[in-house]
Amino acid sequence: MKKRDFIRLLSLGAAGITAGSPLLKSCDSSRREPLAPYWVWMSARDTADVNWQGRFSQLADLGVRGILIQSSEEGYRELGPLAKSAGLEIHAWIIALNHRNKETLEAHPEWYTVSREGKSTALHPPYVEYYSWLCPTRKEVREFVSDRVTRLTLIEELDGIHLDYIRHSDVILPVGLWSKYNLVQDKEYPEFDFCYCDVCRTTFGEMEGIDPQDLEEPFANQAWLQFRYDSVTKLVNELAVITSQHNKKLTAAVFPTPEIARKLVRQEWTKWNLDAIFPMIYHNFYEEDISWIETATREGVQALNGKFPLYSGLYIPALSHGNIAEAVEFALAGGAAGITFFREGIMNRRFWSKIT
Ligand SMILES: [Zn+2]
Repeated sequence: MKKRDFIRLLSLGAAGITAGSPLLKSCDSSRREPLAPYWVWMSARDTADVNWQGRFSQLADLGVRGILIQSSEEGYRELGPLAKSAGLEIHAWIIALNHRNKETLEAHPEWYTVSREGKSTALHPPYVEYYSWLCPTRKEVREFVSDRVTRLTLIEELDGIHLDYIRHSDVILPVGLWSKYNLVQDKEYPEFDFCYCDVCRTTFGEMEGIDPQDLEEPFANQAWLQFRYDSVTKLVNELAVITSQHNKKLTAAVFPTPEIARKLVRQEWTKWNLDAIFPMIYHNFYEEDISWIETATREGVQALNGKFPLYSGLYIPALSHGNIAEAVEFALAGGAAGITFFREGIMNRRFWSKIT
């Protein structure tokens, strides 16, 4: 797999996912009960040649309760009734803060996060060329994302909004990716450390009396770390107010455990006001055995302490027909309310037959 594909999958990025499904070609007539309530990440970028009604019905029969799906607003209006008639919940899966968008880059280059080296992700995206990130400390950025979510909440057929890339750029990549990028990220390095934009520096300066650019050990400054966790939390919780006002659910795809999420991407997701969470418990990215799925799940469940349910996200390319059932069992043993699979389009009949 190419480097950029790998990191894209890590973050559940949109581009590159096709709408094709092996399911319809291979209907399984001898089903048992699913091991757990299932969810799937899937894309509907190309809706032309797909029998969505049939595909949704098959997924429901396999024990899928809900779909996290990428589409256009028009697509959601078309797919929503089909998913619901099959008995599925349907949530709009959106890429929130990673926003390599020509219009926005030209109109608002100042909205983008800036590294400790002073380089903006608008002009100098780290790791891969699409890694341009909006800074959630900026009111205009929060309004921009809120407007998008508000428009989606007006689509009657949707049950909820699913946030992805709701974080800062990786200050440290998962250890399993270091060799791909020829990096050793044993600590926070300036070129990967964000956000030192004007608004963040000023806002933090007013709160703490120091410009974060002047911190000798920014990676050890708890207030500065917390400021960036809070910048994302504030946005999420503003979005939660909007979705609840419109009777929609709000969920998110996040890094695998509370500790890893804070450390790598400044997500403090235990403080988010969500209806459910879908951590990407992708053991191979962390060079872990599949038994880690249980311990990682348990860390999240215990930290949430019943605040909302956690559905363990499993990475299908790193699993086999031989161990997928075991991976599901590990997640359930860790306290997961269910399982989410990345991604539906590559789940063939043999995979499903092992877990239903
Ligand atoms: Zn900023």
